[in-house]
Amino acid sequence: MNKGLSAIRLNQEGYATGLPVSAAVLAGGPVILKNDAGEILRTVSFDPPQADPASGDQVALLDLGVLEAGSYQLGNESGVRRFAVRPGAWNDVTHALIKGLYYQRCGCELSPVHAGPYSHPACHTAPALDWEDRSIRRRITGGWHDAGDYGKYVGPGAVAVAHLLYAWELFPQGCSGELNIPESGNGLPDILNEARYELEWILQMQRSDGAFHHKLTTAFFAPFIMPQDDLEPEYLSPLSFCGTADACACLALAARVYRSFDEAFAGRMLFSACRAWDWLQAHPDFVPFMNPEGIRTGWYRGRGDTDDRFWAACELFAATGEEQYKAAAEKLLLSGQQLTQFGWDDVAGLGALCCLFDLKENAGDVLGPRLREEFLRQSEELLSLSRASGYGTALPPDGYTWGSILPVMGGAMAMIMNTLLTGRQDMRSAALLQWHYALGLNALDLCFVTGFGENPVLHPHHRPSDADGIDAPVPGLISGGPNNKICFPQTREKLGENVPPAKYFLDETPSADTNEIAVYWNSPAVFVGAYFNMLSGR
Ligand SMILES: [Zn+2]
Repeated sequence: MNKGLSAIRLNQEGYATGLPVSAAVLAGGPVILKNDAGEILRTVSFDPPQADPASGDQVALLDLGVLEAGSYQLGNESGVRRFAVRPGAWNDVTHALIKGLYYQRCGCELSPVHAGPYSHPACHTAPALDWEDRSIRRRITGGWHDAGDYGKYVGPGAVAVAHLLYAWELFPQGCSGELNIPESGNGLPDILNEARYELEWILQMQRSDGAFHHKLTTAFFAPFIMPQDDLEPEYLSPLSFCGTADACACLALAARVYRSFDEAFAGRMLFSACRAWDWLQAHPDFVPFMNPEGIRTGWYRGRGDTDDRFWAACELFAATGEEQYKAAAEKLLLSGQQLTQFGWDDVAGLGALCCLFDLKENAGDVLGPRLREEFLRQSEELLSLSRASGYGTALPPDGYTWGSILPVMGGAMAMIMNTLLTGRQDMRSAALLQWHYALGLNALDLCFVTGFGENPVLHPHHRPSDADGIDAPVPGLISGGPNNKICFPQTREKLGENVPPAKYFLDETPSADTNEIAVYWNSPAVFVGAYFNMLSGR
């Protein structure tokens, strides 16, 4: 047990009515559950804590079952922890995770009305220069700053938008609240308003031949200054295959989602997606994106583009019903896809979402029953990982890499999808443990979302949070979390070789390797939060 940390680990945002309450205990002996008045409700005995391979902790995971709304105390001889069970317990944090993307907006003022103390003037408003032909200057507006830096990247942005759109499609009751953003009250749910801010930017990143530029960034990462003070020129990097396919997929998905709200916008997106697909068809051989000599911002290379093309083909089939896209998606599925992957590096899970929950009976045998069976088989592995972990975290001990929150949230997404397909409660409970992990039920006793929980991340690697002169970081941003695989030398120096993977973390601004934020880490957490928020009683 870490010195100074509680021996009882909880979801620090509390628990929602109607869903089971879990806690992790790092000491032996019975645990006593009391109500707010201090009356003993139950003595919980449990098997002796077991060694958790990822953290080195001796830990037991308790399932306290469904508790009535109220305030509780859970304790043993090593301490007491208080928590509440209430309707809508995760409504605020889920919506804050969406609002976190608003704070990443580029090219517009964040006004005091919407951003409070985190307001700032418009940033990055100069025309963009085409890296390959500096005589070309284009005025490109909007988009989200990608992460702790001020770059904007097509593929990662497209993936983040897709998470939001699927959250809204599948769990609208869990994520449709007002966010106090400039568009609030315009008749569109704010989650779709926020996603549109990125979609309008993605549309502008298309070249005249249908391909998409990989990114729009300065040549080097900015120092730790506010975005409006970053006055270096922004360059359009060359095209990328993954970026083109991801934009294609995301725009086709968005065309379907926005059609009933704004037909003209949907039409623009579908037209753009079809042009991107045509470019991909004319360029079948994958070429990885390489940073041009002189550009040193994020690489987001992508190891191949068959997953990206698979997702794109699924979405275009769903948006148009045309056989050519179905045939392409079938062929790409049969070439082998990781259907539980939801990050920029492998997007095949987004194609699975499309087939399982949009195409459904229109999917045909391959994208229907065959994909379903393969998806269920692959998602079973996540349940096994969760069961093998002392904290129920669906990551193997060697899975704590840069942005480990992504596979944790992605695993939860897959287990939620399994639950929707099969009704299995074991899958749902394991998915819920991943949500609890993000909010404090973990080896660090840390809530990974800024501004929430008793012990939240305070010093994320995020330029505005550092440069704005406000102690508290920008709220609603999720940290990448422990990483002992791809580390900076200074992180190694501080933590050494003996800190276990699940604790390889520094709540320090320079530690991009463990404590950066990213739009595509917030977004899968929105999907997971929206589902459980929807299930919670009101
Ligand atoms: Zn900006």
